[in-house]
Amino acid sequence: MDFHCHLDLYPNAREVFKEAAQKNEFTWLVTTSPKAFVATARVLTGAANVLVTPGLHPEIAHERAGELDLLLTQMGDVTAVGEVGLDGSSRYRKSYDVQRGLFEAIIERSSALGGRVLSIHSRQAVNDVLAVLDRHARFGTAVMHWFTGTVKELRAAEERGCWFSIGPAALASSSGRALAAKLPRHFVVPESDGPFAQVDDKPVPPWSADLTARHLGQAWGISTQEAAILLSENSHRLLRLIRQY
Ligand SMILES: [Zn+2]
Repeated sequence: MDFHCHLDLYPNAREVFKEAAQKNEFTWLVTTSPKAFVATARVLTGAANVLVTPGLHPEIAHERAGELDLLLTQMGDVTAVGEVGLDGSSRYRKSYDVQRGLFEAIIERSSALGGRVLSIHSRQAVNDVLAVLDRHARFGTAVMHWFTGTVKELRAAEERGCWFSIGPAALASSSGRALAAKLPRHFVVPESDGPFAQVDDKPVPPWSADLTARHLGQAWGISTQEAAILLSENSHRLLRLIRQY
């Protein structure tokens, strides 16, 4: 399973899509803009176990702000949304106000629709992300993707019922593994974040959950097999949530 993958952006997207559909029980293809969602949903079709969702990546918020209305419309026809969120790192600080306006509108819309499952980017912006979620109690379920906040922020997210998707690239560093050790084990699902996420200079493929289980097993002090079972149980629970909205 893979709960956060930019499958449409691999150089050989059609082949990776086919292979993911064969190898994975489920793959969540998050797009980065509403127009990319339209194009991807048209091209990468025919696999019921690949979920393609509309999003608006915070890193391109300034270029794609004009597509917000399209996204809000698309959200009416789907049960999951992503990638959305906030990026407070210095590189994207200039667009932070724009990002905040977009994210607030997306979460408000989720709430008005009775809830959605959202794959959320929160780099250096965890507290602001949580503040937006707090303002819209019925927004649904947040899946914090590649979480890199502090332990305090992690606990705040956990208290609000957030899920966490994590993959091999996040677990490649010792700081990433230390934070992973503290994740709430029953709310963690695998992701690749490929092709952006790379290990050994290669894009992480969507079928990397075994590697994630190995890393998490080590971080949690359990066997790879036990970690794999836990991830599988969690994944099925989250899938049921995605289908429920
Ligand atoms: Zn991503």
